[in-house]
Amino acid sequence: MTDSKSVTENTGENKTPVNFIHAIIDDDIRNGKHGSRVHTRFPPEPNGYLHIGHAKSICLNFGTALKYNGKCNLRFDDTNPVKEDVEYVDSIRYDVHWLGFDWEGREYYASDYFPQLYEFAEKLIQKGKAYVCELTAEQIAEQKGSPTRPGQESPYRNRSIEENLDLFRRMKAGEFPDGSKVLRAKIDMASPNMHMRDPILYRIIHTEHHRTGKSWCIYPMYDFAHGQSDSIEGITHSLCTLEFEVHRPLYDWLIQELEIFAPQQIEFARLNMTYTVMSKRKLLELVKNNYVNGWDDPRMPTISGLRRRGYTPASIRNFSDIVGVAKRENVIDVGLLEFCIREDLNKTAQRVMGVINPVKLIIDNYPEGLTEEMPSANNPEDPEAGIRNVPFSRELYIERDDFMEDPPAKFFRLAPGREVRLRSAYIIRCESVVKDPETGEITGIHCTYDPDTLSGRPGSNRKVKGTLHWVSAAHAIKAEIRLYDRLFMTEDPEDVPEGEDYKKNLNPDSLKVMTGYVEPFVAGTKPLDKFQFERLGYFCTDSDSTPEKLVFNRTVALKDSWAKTNK
Ligand code: ATP
Ligand code: MG
Repeated sequence: MTDSKSVTENTGENKTPVNFIHAIIDDDIRNGKHGSRVHTRFPPEPNGYLHIGHAKSICLNFGTALKYNGKCNLRFDDTNPVKEDVEYVDSIRYDVHWLGFDWEGREYYASDYFPQLYEFAEKLIQKGKAYVCELTAEQIAEQKGSPTRPGQESPYRNRSIEENLDLFRRMKAGEFPDGSKVLRAKIDMASPNMHMRDPILYRIIHTEHHRTGKSWCIYPMYDFAHGQSDSIEGITHSLCTLEFEVHRPLYDWLIQELEIFAPQQIEFARLNMTYTVMSKRKLLELVKNNYVNGWDDPRMPTISGLRRRGYTPASIRNFSDIVGVAKRENVIDVGLLEFCIREDLNKTAQRVMGVINPVKLIIDNYPEGLTEEMPSANNPEDPEAGIRNVPFSRELYIERDDFMEDPPAKFFRLAPGREVRLRSAYIIRCESVVKDPETGEITGIHCTYDPDTLSGRPGSNRKVKGTLHWVSAAHAIKAEIRLYDRLFMTEDPEDVPEGEDYKKNLNPDSLKVMTGYVEPFVAGTKPLDKFQFERLGYFCTDSDSTPEKLVFNRTVALKDSWAKTNK
């Protein structure tokens, strides 16, 4: 973690020092600013699925409203009909609710304000503060100048108010083709702030909008819609990411010229995470070109992907709290997110046994046909969770990695002549192995057991170094097990040489599909059920899982074995 550590957020769950945003709000309340009201909003553009960075913003905006007994709106910034879709609107609503937040019916759309925004634009024209410009996009860009060189004024800049009004109305009426005219604010082509050099306010797009249909063929730019939407809704604290700091003078100028309610914009650093790309454009590309299996692929940093992977809302809220809000750009270690889900699932997940890379183990001196029920704790962290019986019999599956024919001294698992305990059951001793004559692969491990070593029997306290998990072969349920590694191999996937692309850093081994066995307890499992497979990690039943074919995703390994093995 970086400098964000010193200023941490307080959304209620963690009693950490007050973050800089809340310090500003505390002051505003003390001074009676905005009548001491606190009203925030989460303003997504419905052009993709939400990701963990948005989750951070959701927790901040809704968490701030909760802390100050204020309100938080959900507002769709849907000003670009070309990229937006109701599929995204629905997913966003679902994800915000799932994270545990409620906008109490205050679901708004910038598109609902199109008539009002249009009136605002006419008002600017009436005041001589906006004009219709007929330069092409390229010409406008060319004449913009550079931060050190002033721009050139458009030849259309000094049109009369009447002419501007007439042209703008005709733009609205659909008389002109896309790209032929724009409405620009008349500010200052020499301003050191490029955003003040007569920015575009409206453009012509003859495309149907997912909400307003064919009503409009001119659409406001984000910069003209966002601040005014905040103002219309009476937002007191407009929290946004750092890249909007340079837009703030423009927002303030517009609000002042329009003489409307002035929200206060406060910028904070975006959440960036190691081994992760967070740009919606790139995530969309990964989905569209099938580098992953959809927006909710468990390797994606989307909220829907994290949910399918087995993340809980509480773990994401906690992550967001720990990360806090920073004023400077920083990168958070993805290991912190993994830590948060481990911590949560450790307290809540049902323990079961499952074997993901199975090899047969035969207990030669155990009676054939006998099944014993071995009581096992459902969750040692939660005494209320109770126990379940796990069937035990003569033939079991154990993990192939838990056996070595010729082990090093520190290998405390099973090897010829060595003893281990089977979790909740007996101590066994390896007598011999059977191999495939052609491949040399071990196909069976023969053992003997000591009947005295079961809990409650005289030898139950006998100590051995290793304890293994197992599943009774006769009772086992076959299951597909999906193991994930990071989607990208490098800490900063976007750091690539000139001319190359972040996709070259995709990890070709980010998904490994195994066929394993699980104990019969999980037979009726439903998607999103969470388990700890003992010794292997936390798992979650996948949405592809059916009673006929169980499918599990590994959410995260128990310890950060990945980091260790990659050092
Ligand atoms: P774009 O605008 O390029 O499509 P975006 O990531 O900004 O992408 P929005 O839908 O505009 O997407 O974001 C909604 C809100 O979430 C904004 O207030 C934005 O500042 C915030 N947000 C987006 N990404 C992050 C991030 N990585 N960390 C924190 N907040 C974020
Ligand atoms: Mg944005």
